[in-house]
Amino acid sequence: CGIVGYIGKREAYPIIIEGLKRLEYRGYDSAGVALYNGENLKISKTKGKVSDLEERCENENNKYGNIGIGHTRWATHGVPNDVNSHPHLSNSGNLAIIHNGIIENYESLKKELISRGYTFKSDTDTEVLINLIEEIQKQENVKLGKAVQIALNQVIGAYAIAVFDQNNPDEIVIARLGSPLTVGVGEDEFFIASDASPFLEYTKNAIYLEDEEMAIIRLHREIKVRKIKDDSLVDPYIQELKL
Ligand code: GLU
Repeated sequence: CGIVGYIGKREAYPIIIEGLKRLEYRGYDSAGVALYNGENLKISKTKGKVSDLEERCENENNKYGNIGIGHTRWATHGVPNDVNSHPHLSNSGNLAIIHNGIIENYESLKKELISRGYTFKSDTDTEVLINLIEEIQKQENVKLGKAVQIALNQVIGAYAIAVFDQNNPDEIVIARLGSPLTVGVGEDEFFIASDASPFLEYTKNAIYLEDEEMAIIRLHREIKVRKIKDDSLVDPYIQELKL
């Protein structure tokens, strides 16, 4: 039930692990990270505690890179186990997603994707969403942000998501409807989290996404916030947290 992400100049791993620990109070049954080390997208995930995840990352030598996303899961679709833990990959292996919430119409979307040749490893609604995004990216020949937007307009449910595409590794796309999501804005770096506690020690400048908003977060660029429904640009309000 927690999301943490980082893109910038620091090592993402310690920020994500410490951030997930700060979100532990929200409750969860599994945890996972996806890290991009400059060459590969590597995923480590496990049922259990964030401390179990740390052990796994140690064993799998997955602690490196300046971009990453991390998740604590509160299972809604599929039992708590390693496979159902997030992040989930698309069939091509290029896209990774973390998701809090529920995709209510996942069954019909899943059927349609299976008829197009997609296969599924997990029982989650989330794995359906990442493959829907991949299918749209292919069909429409659009970039990740646009594909996420089109997909979310086909989805019924609630979500906070962060999506990464290893073919376009200097950006993370996030969106929310019904689950909280905030962005910490540092100098040439961004933090993504369910609440500000994971990034308060690094920056006090935060953007709180509203429902039905998405954002494209790119390295060395300004954050772009849009309305998911009508594609209009939103001027993001950067709030200075006084904590
Ligand atoms: N519905 C998703 C799942 O069961 C996300 C659950 C959550 O909010 O952590 O995997």
